[in-house]
Amino acid sequence: MNPTNNVIKDFIRDIIDEDLKTNKYDGRVHTRFPPEPNGYLHIGHAKSVCLNFGIAEEYKGLCNLRFDDTNPTKEEKEYTQSIIEDVRWLGFDWEDRLFYASDYFGQMYEYAVQLVKDGKAYVDDLDAKEINEYRGTLTKPGRNSPYRDRSVKENLDLLERMKAGEFADGEKVLRAKIDMAHPNLNMRDPIIYRILHESHHRTGDKWCIYPMYDWAHGLEDSIEDITHSICTLEFENHRPLYDWFLDNLGVYRPQQIEFARLNLTYTVMSKRMLLELVEGGYVSGWDDPRLPTISGMRRRGYSPTAIRNFCKRIGVAKVNSIVDFEFLEHCIRDDLNKTSLRFMGVLRPLKIVIENYPEDKLEELEAVNNPEDPSAGVRMVPFSRVLYIEQGDFMEDPPKKFYRLAPGREVRFRYSYFITCKEAIREGGDVVELRCTYDPATRGGYAPDGRKVKSTIHWASADQAIDAEVRLYDRLFTLENPAGKKDTDFKDFLNPNSLEVLTSCKVEPALRNLKPFDRFQFERQGYFCIDPDTTGKKLIINRTVGLRDIWAKIQKQQQMKK
Ligand code: ATP
Ligand code: MG
Repeated sequence: MNPTNNVIKDFIRDIIDEDLKTNKYDGRVHTRFPPEPNGYLHIGHAKSVCLNFGIAEEYKGLCNLRFDDTNPTKEEKEYTQSIIEDVRWLGFDWEDRLFYASDYFGQMYEYAVQLVKDGKAYVDDLDAKEINEYRGTLTKPGRNSPYRDRSVKENLDLLERMKAGEFADGEKVLRAKIDMAHPNLNMRDPIIYRILHESHHRTGDKWCIYPMYDWAHGLEDSIEDITHSICTLEFENHRPLYDWFLDNLGVYRPQQIEFARLNLTYTVMSKRMLLELVEGGYVSGWDDPRLPTISGMRRRGYSPTAIRNFCKRIGVAKVNSIVDFEFLEHCIRDDLNKTSLRFMGVLRPLKIVIENYPEDKLEELEAVNNPEDPSAGVRMVPFSRVLYIEQGDFMEDPPKKFYRLAPGREVRFRYSYFITCKEAIREGGDVVELRCTYDPATRGGYAPDGRKVKSTIHWASADQAIDAEVRLYDRLFTLENPAGKKDTDFKDFLNPNSLEVLTSCKVEPALRNLKPFDRFQFERQGYFCIDPDTTGKKLIINRTVGLRDIWAKIQKQQQMKK
């Protein structure tokens, strides 16, 4: 893992450097990000987006955004729109190069006709089950289909009729004629076209045959003059087929390069599983802040800069691995620390009354907006006789190391005064109010006589504070790899406490000026952002991440193990 934010070379950039040296593509670097619009993008896709668009930027090349929309049944407009929004939000620009694989359907069909004419493809009548049986296994060669030796003329006629809609779904397929005994199963006469009487969200009912991924993808890359077609490792043994198709058509061939996909602990990253969580109502939608989707992370308060830094720092490798969720949070904190305005917010309020503070007095005290960034300036925070503090900042009978408020103890209230607790008022067994006094000489938080206090706590002025709902998030799953357990349902490992909603929070009035998705820090509590469900009547805040850097601790433990 790269400890800094600098660009580092990896095996993909090494390949590109070499290609530039040998002038393999006339000095061009042209990549693409090719999502299938059958779900929302997740942080794994962000890795691919950052890699493809990042490489184009670094080498002054180009990167296309291309929808790989060859499967009509699972794709929807909503997904297309969300993907466009997410890639843009991550900070990347495809200029005028937004493409749809479905725009190439005509051309792909022409290429298929060409293969048939060359005797390199045939129409097969075997059904799916039979095709599977004939394929053989890793240890057993396959058998030729009885339809494999149809004449070119017959194949052309059948393909034309497949396209014209004369046959039912599954009745026929078009297959490449390669080698049924090939050691690589992908080369055993792979399917090129299947019949699907389904409407496509862009081509409507024009087509009832749809190209298979392996056939379509290389053609898309070739048509767009891509130089380096970067994909994930599971396509490594599809590469011979990628090359075979393009070479046998005699068309331009890009270089496919595979890298390890990103996995993260305590979450799932497959679109199928994410869809299951969304459709089953286990989360509130694709943008639920607990999901690893880009839209969820945006709503949670992650910044695009932080996500890009994370992707850079995890690097690109040839071996699959799983990244600690805590490392992602570390990167988020790292960025938010530099950029976030600070505010005070009380999540679980306990009322306090300052007995020697005048009833009708209201002061405005100066507070620093961001200690990491002096240019962020200061703001005024109201202070009065009745305040709220965090329930957890008071203990009636404190243990040794508890330095915050307790009867008889003096602490600093951030940006204001030294305050001493005199008495706790109980109602039914619970402490409901504290009676306190303040020292007027300590305005600004320092005592002229030099006396010290052991802690500083945050607070909110009762009359001026805004009521807010704060949503706290924890890991979505209780297992590091919920999808990795055999014979279990990943949903069995959902964390029942992944969402905690606090409905009676009191936050300082300056928050009124923030808009949905604005990010900030509540001092001592973590990073937060305004939820888009916020209305004029109800302020809703999401906690992005706490302040404690758990990753640093994990790293220390790992080093000790070594
Ligand atoms: P899923 O397996 O969840 O359906 P996918 O790989 O089929 O995802 P695509 O829409 O085809 O999703 O992905 C678009 C691009 O993003 C592909 O180039 C793919 O390799 C890449 N990608 C998808 N998931 C990851 C991941 N976890 N890490 C890195 N790249 C990924
Ligand atoms: Mg895919």
